[in-house]
Amino acid sequence: MVKLFIDPGHGGTDPGAVGHGLQEKALTLEIGRQIRDILLREYVGVGVKMSRTTDVFLPLTERTRLANQWGATYFVSIHINAGGGSGFETFVHSSRRTQTVKLQSVMHDEMMTRLQVADRGQKAADFAVLRGTKMPAILTENLFIDRTTDAHKLKSGAFLRLVAEAHVFGLAQAFQLQKKSVIPSQNSMYRVQSGSFEVMKNANQVKKKIEEAGYSPFIRLENGLHKVQVGAFSNQSNAESLAAELRKKGFTAGVFRS
Ligand SMILES: [Zn+2]
Repeated sequence: MVKLFIDPGHGGTDPGAVGHGLQEKALTLEIGRQIRDILLREYVGVGVKMSRTTDVFLPLTERTRLANQWGATYFVSIHINAGGGSGFETFVHSSRRTQTVKLQSVMHDEMMTRLQVADRGQKAADFAVLRGTKMPAILTENLFIDRTTDAHKLKSGAFLRLVAEAHVFGLAQAFQLQKKSVIPSQNSMYRVQSGSFEVMKNANQVKKKIEEAGYSPFIRLENGLHKVQVGAFSNQSNAESLAAELRKKGFTAGVFRS
C-alpha cells in the first residue's frame, strides 16, 4: 500500500499567510481534505493520513513525528505563498536526495500542466518538515494570497478543487496509483429537487417548465416516484441557493441529502 501523509500547513492560532480576506490555514485544510477524499474514493491500494483535519495548531515536529511513526511512503505539505510574486512552486529538502528530487519532478510537472499558472520552479530549502521526515517529502506553494489575481483564484471553490485534483494527479503519476474500476458516487450529495410525482407525465410537465426557465433538469426514478432533479452539489449552501433561486421563480424546490 502507498501511504500518503497529507499535511495542511498552519492551523489554529497560526493562520499562516493572510491577504484579501483569506487565511492560508483554511485554504490548505480545504485542499488537503479534498486530496484525501479524492484519493480514497477513486484509487485502490492507497492509504491516507492527515496531520490535521480541523482548525488546530500543530507544531512542525509533531507533523513529522506522526508521518514517521506511521511509516508514510510520502509526505506532502500544502501551503499558500505570500510576499510578492505569483504562481506555483515546489520545495524539497536542500540535501536533494535522488528519489525525492525524482518525485518532485513528476509531481511538479503533472501539477503545472493542470494549474495553468506561472511556474516558479522546483526548489530546495531547509524547511523543518522536509528536514524532519524520514521518507521523501515535498512542500507545495499554491499561489500567492497577497497577490490580487492569485487571491481571486483562491477564492473560487472550483479552483481549490483543481488544486486538489492536481495534487492527486501528481501523486497518481509519481506512485503509479491505480483507479478503482467503479468509482462510488460522492457521499452526502445535496440534490435540488422540484417535485416528486407518481405519474411520469406530471413530472415531465414540471421538467419542461424548468427547462424553459433556463435550467437543465432531469427525472430520476426512485422508490416508484418520478423526481425532478435540477442539480446535485457536494456543498450544501450551493444547493440551498439554487433551491432558493428556483422558488423565487415560482417553482417548488427543496434540498434533499442522499
Ligand atoms: Zn505556509
